Amino acid sequence: MNPAPVFRFAPSPNGYLHLGHAYSALLNFDLARQAGGHLLLRIEDIDVTRCRPEYEQAVYEDLEWLGIIWETPVRRQSDHLDAYVAASDRLAAMGLLYPSFESRAEIARLVAGEEAKGPWPRDPDGAPLYPGTAKSLYADEVAALKRSGAPMALRLDMAAAIERVGALTWQEQGSGPDGETAEVAARPDAWGDVILARKEVPTSYHLSVVIDDALQGVTDVVRGQDLFWSTSVHRLLQALLGLPVPAYRHHALLRDETGAKLAKSLASTGLRELRAQGMTSADVRRLAGLPPYP
Ligand code: GLU
Repeated sequence: MNPAPVFRFAPSPNGYLHLGHAYSALLNFDLARQAGGHLLLRIEDIDVTRCRPEYEQAVYEDLEWLGIIWETPVRRQSDHLDAYVAASDRLAAMGLLYPSFESRAEIARLVAGEEAKGPWPRDPDGAPLYPGTAKSLYADEVAALKRSGAPMALRLDMAAAIERVGALTWQEQGSGPDGETAEVAARPDAWGDVILARKEVPTSYHLSVVIDDALQGVTDVVRGQDLFWSTSVHRLLQALLGLPVPAYRHHALLRDETGAKLAKSLASTGLRELRAQGMTSADVRRLAGLPPYP
């Protein structure tokens, strides 16, 4: 018999949850129950400047109000930085990481210089690719920049990483013409030399999500469509680090009346606001377009 599938809901406590989060959490909960599997909750709180304990507390309260049951202990990423550092050390030992020292403003200037010469590629989120400038720094320049206190990020040498593992795909559930699972070709090159760690925070979304999904035995990643192409980077890191590969399902994002993505600040869809208006979990399911419980 196959082991029971493991799903997870992985919010970042950098704001209050809204209807879009409720949809994602309830969908994971429903799918886990239908499959006789487990639902884990993971708090993705590596961004120390934006995450706050009161938002984390609100995650627990809002999910409880929705009637979602998750397994404990909850994994908080900020408690596991060692695991991410160990992974980035392995990538560094493979010669796949290099340090870069530019501020955001400096990168914007470098990109503007490139764009003056012709079109410059952008990543799937629309941000211009890093021009790779720091890749050609000499060892003594790197040492001097490290001493200077300049901002430092560790970037993945994308070309070298892809060369090492070759072409990759993932299984996307529900994306075939009849809603069946289809194979998607990963395009990690579209992201350029992504940042995997910073001096202030020795990890990144991409690195920690991949390590945690593997350590927690996650078999089914169900998350918003906005993270669809991030999966390319996740597949690449899994291949480099020899990690198991979950199945993926990227669900449509809920939109407001104007067609815009729901933002955490939106008073009309915040779960605390809906609760204060006297709504129930069943009302939220209906608002989110999920079928009622039998
Ligand atoms: N922490 C991410 C977010 O809140 C989700 C990460 C994931 O599901 O892979 O958008």
